[in-house]
Parts: sequence; C-alpha cells; structure tokens
Amino acid sequence: MVGKRGLILITCQNPDCAYFQIEEGKDITKNGHNKAGNQQYYCHHCGKYFIETRNTPLYHSRLPRSEVLIIAKHAMEKTSIRGVSRVINHHRDTISRYYHLIGEHAENFNDHYIRDIPAGDCEMDEIWGFIQKKNKNLQMNDPEEYGDCWTYTSFKRESGLFIAFQTGKRIESTCADMLDLFFDRMNLPTPNEKISIYSDGNVQYTICIPELYCEPCINYGQLVKVKKKNSLVCVIREKVLGNPHVSSISTSVVEGYNNKIRQRLSRFGRKTASFSKKTQGFIAALNIFQFVHNFY
Ligand SMILES: [Zn+2]
Repeated sequence: MVGKRGLILITCQNPDCAYFQIEEGKDITKNGHNKAGNQQYYCHHCGKYFIETRNTPLYHSRLPRSEVLIIAKHAMEKTSIRGVSRVINHHRDTISRYYHLIGEHAENFNDHYIRDIPAGDCEMDEIWGFIQKKNKNLQMNDPEEYGDCWTYTSFKRESGLFIAFQTGKRIESTCADMLDLFFDRMNLPTPNEKISIYSDGNVQYTICIPELYCEPCINYGQLVKVKKKNSLVCVIREKVLGNPHVSSISTSVVEGYNNKIRQRLSRFGRKTASFSKKTQGFIAALNIFQFVHNFY
C-alpha cells in the first residue's frame, strides 16, 4: 500500500496471520528480491514470505508497473477509457479491468484508514450523474441500474476529509447507506463533543439522521434553497436538531468538493460522452478519487 507522500506501509498479506494487514506490533523484515525485481518480505508471526505487490493491482500484472501507474494517473485526469487505450496502446477492456482493480484497492485502503474520525463539522450533499443514459431516454425494458444516479457525499469541513459516499437512485435507502458508512467511520459524539452536520433541504436526511444520532449529541442544520424557474430566490437556514449556530449552516465546502469530483472525473460531466456503462465503473472511479483526495 502507498500512503501519504509515497510512504510505503508494509503489513503482512497472509489472511491466516493474526497480523494480517495490521500495522501495530507487526514484525516484518526485508528478504531480498524476486526475479521480477520486487522486494520480498518475511513475517515473523506466521513465518510466510510475500512480495511487496501482494494484494495490489500490480500483483501478477501482465502490464509493467510504469503502464499501470499511467492508467492510475489518468483515472483522475478526465481521460476516457478509450483515450487511455489510445495513449498506451492496450485494449479498452484491459484498461477497464485495471480501473476496477485500482478501484478495489483504493476502496480497501479507504476502508482501512478512514476510521475513528473525531466528531466536528461535517457537510453532506448529492451529486448527479448517470449510468448508460439519462432518465429522459430510458425505455421500458432497460436494466434497473440505467438512468440518473446520485452520489451522496460527506466531507469534514475543516480538513476537507472525504468521509463517505454512496451511489444509487435518489431514494431514502441510498441516503441511509451513506449515513451508515459515515456513522461507522466517525467517533461517537457526546453531549460535550457534539457532531455538527449541515446539508441541503433534502428531507431524506431529516428522516435518516435522527435514527443514528440522539439530540443531545448532535447539531443538525439545513440550508434550504428556494428556487423559482431554476434561479435562486432565497436561502433559509433551518435548525433541525440541537442548536446549530445559524451562521454556520452552510454547504459551500461540500459543494466545492463535489465540483472537484465533477472537474476530475469525466463520467460526472453534464454533456459527457465518457459516461459509465455500469454502476461498478462509477463506484471504482469514486473510490480512486476518494483515495487520491484524502491521502495523496
Ligand atoms: Zn504474518
């Protein structure tokens, strides 16, 4: 695994070991290189050898490391899969396969490191995208995943940490799934150390948030935008739970980061031709974004 500023964090990669992917108390020493030139390690707990690329997209990779890195870098630069395919001369299915591998690896990394986040000010919002076609072009027998999809995102206000996301239809269960993941990754708040959540006027949050947090531990405020014919008429800052400062009810931080997602991932473009064909590709791209945004 590669951490912040390129720091390599080596942990035992044997799933049967008591120190599997655990940093604290690990006992690992370097043990030469294999034929491909990869560093080999030895774990003193389980007595197993493993190479540095184990459980990464580079393990048993047919493409050389340099090309895999180019694919990974293009994932964040708005290049389409066909674009990368033209640049490095490999079939688009190969590029797509590596995107999924890199996405999976990023997801594991995010799961492992985004945890025990201290309560504080958090903002939530939704960002629009689509799978295969927009809702207005849907036909009767299209698969369920086709059409508009929404990604619910949550960010820490001060540090900008991208805490959790969930992609799906704009329904309560998608919102609840994002909040469950958010809840798991945050420290439990107390009446002395409350969590503050700010979102737009989406009623799904009003239903789901009280199921996770009790009133003495939370301040929750909504910024309700009143629009008329697509232009903003006024904003209302509403206290929903606890007693948030009216002046701090804002979603400008999360809106800024959601805009960054739109800038960096081609599949979030409004009139893009490099849209996702499957939800899986969409989620892989978001996991890579989350990893790069938080740790790189
Ligand atoms: Zn081990």
